[in-house]
Amino acid sequence: MDIIVTTPKSQMAAAAQEAADARCAGAGTEYFRSFPRAYAPGQLRPGDRIYYVEDGFVRGFAVVSHIEQSQFPMQCQTTGREWPAGYYAFMQADSWRWIRPIPMRGFQGFRYANGGLTRSEYDGTRESDDSPAHIVVDGVWHPVLEEGDWLFQRPRSCRVCGCTDNYGCPPPAGPCWWVEHDLCSVCQEWGLGSRRPAAPSEVKNGSAKRRKADGSEMPDP
Ligand SMILES: [Zn+2]
Ligand SMILES: [Zn+2]
Repeated sequence: MDIIVTTPKSQMAAAAQEAADARCAGAGTEYFRSFPRAYAPGQLRPGDRIYYVEDGFVRGFAVVSHIEQSQFPMQCQTTGREWPAGYYAFMQADSWRWIRPIPMRGFQGFRYANGGLTRSEYDGTRESDDSPAHIVVDGVWHPVLEEGDWLFQRPRSCRVCGCTDNYGCPPPAGPCWWVEHDLCSVCQEWGLGSRRPAAPSEVKNGSAKRRKADGSEMPDP
């Protein structure tokens, strides 16, 4: 069964470096994720997906190639960090896929990604509407829409709703466009995503004279 894990903020830079190194080293490189043996995802199997939450969104997944239960510590070659004995899920670096980001708060440990629900069990749609790829976050069913493979950087996405160039906001609110590097027009319109209070509108100085192009002063209206 697929699971979801969080990349802690403190490790996001290392994770990005690891991904860059993997691209340099080629397709044979592996990632791993470790768990204390007492809190290991017992239903995770080779071929299942591990989805990663970063910055408040599920942003992508990699496919489990094999699982090892290690009695001994291991050392990460990228960070030099030593990992204790435990449960390790390995993934081929080139199995990584970006997805249209799905909002989800970071958390400790792991969660099963679909809670065992098919779409028809979740909302009563016909069995033929079941998507093979979906996750359930806080009881809500989300399709997993792929955005690109491991060779691409993280796709540009709205920091509020997660929409991307390929998967913009749907009608009737959409379509949307970029108003900031990571904010779409729909979210701005709804007043979402402001990072700072709006700049006070420029107060016109009543004594300032407007000037015509030739430099002569115009009369006050
Ligand atoms: Zn948005
Ligand atoms: Zn949007």
